[in-house]
Amino acid sequence: MNRAFSPLSPRGRGEGGEGRVPLNSAEPSNLSPVRLITTVREMKACAREVRARGKALALVPTMGALHDGHLSLVRRAKRECDVVVVSIFVNPTQFGTGEDLSRYPRNLERDLDLLVPLQVDAVFAPGTGDIYPYGFDTFVEPGALATSLEGAVRPGHFSGVATVVVKLFNIVRPDVACFGQKDFQQGLVIRHLARDLNLDVRLAICPIVREPDGLAQSSRNAYLDAEDRLAALALYRSLRRAQELVDAGETDARLIVEEMGKVFAAEPRVAPDYAVVVEPARLSPVQRVTPGCVALVAARVGSTRLIDNWIIAPPGTSGDERIQLALERLCSGGL
Ligand code: AMP
Repeated sequence: MNRAFSPLSPRGRGEGGEGRVPLNSAEPSNLSPVRLITTVREMKACAREVRARGKALALVPTMGALHDGHLSLVRRAKRECDVVVVSIFVNPTQFGTGEDLSRYPRNLERDLDLLVPLQVDAVFAPGTGDIYPYGFDTFVEPGALATSLEGAVRPGHFSGVATVVVKLFNIVRPDVACFGQKDFQQGLVIRHLARDLNLDVRLAICPIVREPDGLAQSSRNAYLDAEDRLAALALYRSLRRAQELVDAGETDARLIVEEMGKVFAAEPRVAPDYAVVVEPARLSPVQRVTPGCVALVAARVGSTRLIDNWIIAPPGTSGDERIQLALERLCSGGL
């Protein structure tokens, strides 16, 4: 394994407290170590130390089972700040009963190995009991944005997300927090939350990283067998179909959504929960599809539930520019 203690650690090799990862003597010397932090107390102390040194700190919240999508967030965090903390926590409060909490992929060793080459400063991987100690009884309740789409299919999901994100922000106190466009609604909910609760953090939203055939990378893709993996492409195809129609001059949202539905209808292994084109500010369905509108889909592929989205824009628009377009519409909507 390529990882070790960080110079951030007040103690040296061999003195690592609970959860520390031992230095591997075979490790190439040009790789900086990753410090593994497993308690809230230690994370707070580390963050305090970083702030006292006047360094800017970026947080990348994840549930682990890392893939290139997560790693793109880490790279962005590195560009934004001096110190990068990646949190790895499978947050039970954002899973509903009957969802995949118990089978969600967990592999901390592998995740740490993936983060070493990126020179992450610390990984915060707390235990569930440390984040939700006995008697925990306070939840953050996001408003209207959290009631449609994912919020409608997964009641309570965004309350769990908002709660853990506020806790992580309070523990790490990051200057910047990086999130993926992949969870578009989640990004909006957190943006709203940060504004409404005066949280002192800037959010960076990063484009969706896809497999070569277009499937959005997701920790849940690991659940898919070969046939389902192929069928799962229906999500991406439906989004591309929306963009194709717009490129051909179509703006009628009803017709575009109908065509997205046809892509799903042609794939019997895939059961869509929704396929919509919305105004990003309020996630409200539009009548006319224009640049900056967002097509969002969610579907079950066998027992696996996947989500994806696509920001409508003229051909040749980059991923970052698309996000900018959607964000501008948020700002012009006063949000
Ligand atoms: P998760 O581990 O699924 O909770 O995701 C952690 C963060 O990674 C969230 O901000 C996600 O939006 C982001 N993310 C997940 N998949 C991707 C992807 N394919 N491309 C970019 N970001 C992603």
